[in-house]
Amino acid sequence: MTIHQNLIAGEWVGADGVENINPSNTGDVVGTYARASAEDTKSAIAAAKAAFPAWSRSGILERHAILRKAADEILARKEELGRLLSREEGKTLAEGIGETVRAGQIFDFFAGECLRLAGEVLPSVRPNIGVEITREPVGVVGIITPWNFPIAIPAWKIAPALCYGNTVVFKPAELVPGCSWAIVDILVRAGLPKGVLNLVMGKGSVVGQTMLDSPDVNAITFTGSTGTGKRVAVASVEHNRKYQLEMGGKNPFVVLDDADLDVAVEAAVNSAFFSTGQRCTASSRVIVTEGIHDRFVAAVGERLKSVVVDDALKAGTHIGPVVDETQLKQDTDYIEIGQKEGAKLAFGGELLKRDTPGFYLAPALFTEATNEMRISREEIFGPVAAVIRVKDYEEALAIANDTPFGLSSGIATTSLKHATHFKRNAEAGMVMVNLPTAGVDFHVPFGGRKGSSFGSREQGKYANEFYTTVKTAYTLA
Ligand code: ADP
Repeated sequence: MTIHQNLIAGEWVGADGVENINPSNTGDVVGTYARASAEDTKSAIAAAKAAFPAWSRSGILERHAILRKAADEILARKEELGRLLSREEGKTLAEGIGETVRAGQIFDFFAGECLRLAGEVLPSVRPNIGVEITREPVGVVGIITPWNFPIAIPAWKIAPALCYGNTVVFKPAELVPGCSWAIVDILVRAGLPKGVLNLVMGKGSVVGQTMLDSPDVNAITFTGSTGTGKRVAVASVEHNRKYQLEMGGKNPFVVLDDADLDVAVEAAVNSAFFSTGQRCTASSRVIVTEGIHDRFVAAVGERLKSVVVDDALKAGTHIGPVVDETQLKQDTDYIEIGQKEGAKLAFGGELLKRDTPGFYLAPALFTEATNEMRISREEIFGPVAAVIRVKDYEEALAIANDTPFGLSSGIATTSLKHATHFKRNAEAGMVMVNLPTAGVDFHVPFGGRKGSSFGSREQGKYANEFYTTVKTAYTLA
């Protein structure tokens, strides 16, 4: 049995591991992956700290070449890595390959960013003095990632961390170590010096917590649940370290009377159910004005008839399984809660049997929901959405913003007036007009506000706000 080991100080280590299970077919073991201990994690942090002085002063061409090489390999292996992703996480093969391509593009983008590191030169307010403003790396960056984007999220954190000259201790989610292992392997073979990137697969309560508690981790970037995000924040305040959080969402998708019905239905179904609803940008609150409500609900019901839920790797599957048993229970619990709260389960919500044993759930759509119900307030993270009927645009906007979260917000309308007003007034980091709430580009900022996010934005050139620290130098001429 091959064990995929952890990488600490340039050495692959770890004698035993746990099995990575395919949620489309629980009899299929994707691979065995090592579990790091607290001691291993401390060694990884020490290695990253030791590697920092040299890497932070490495030439931009060296960093460019490594990131570029990694991008090329990821893109060349997109079918194989996309398949691995679908097999361990359960999103469809098309989605798995698409996400892999995105990871390659992210490495390519940050390979370019290495060559564009810029500062500013200003005159001082005092005569004969010059001021230079430059960006320097932060130090050891701890990266903690969730299971729902097994290759894109690691890529959008690792690539900028390395690009700007930081060293890394990377802890992927327990459920999906496969893609993380693969990109670390690719980066090491692309020429990263020992200790610059360390992989510590294992439990959040052990590996993650050790990272949180270490005074030698200078910054932590985290994507995951609100509860764990709070722990990251508290521990980071304690250590006076930089931190960045991407947490939950309860993203609204507004449909107005003047919407193009086909556009609205496609965007709503995609937002709510594709990738099994397991995206922090998914929409689980569909807010519909009364003039289009009944036609919209009927059309979504019609559209759902042609949606195939099956093995993620099968041709023709539109929606794969839920990621594991715990998440499936959370989804079905919320379906029960919604019914008890008085919402009407209009479509789906039943467990499905397929040729292979997996966690299959029919996309569930509630109608007659109110924004006060738990299904409208709490993140479910599955293929479960609720339609809330409203009178007009003003009420729709008020309900869209009436949530503790603020990641993404969408609207379907043909009115320029409403689209413009919504873009300005939606309390979210990202706004989508006539598009699904999920599905973002790799070269522009990603992130939210309110309870969804904390800290500066990820992705695109805005990533440098987190992965660098600014220095202001004064020189007497
Ligand atoms: P999810 O619901 O997406 O699994 P979590 O917040 O539990 O959200 O997990 C996101 C990441 O945080 C995972 O890599 C997980 O292992 C890690 N994690 C969980 N608990 C802790 C903790 N106490 N300290 C640091 N990281 C943790």
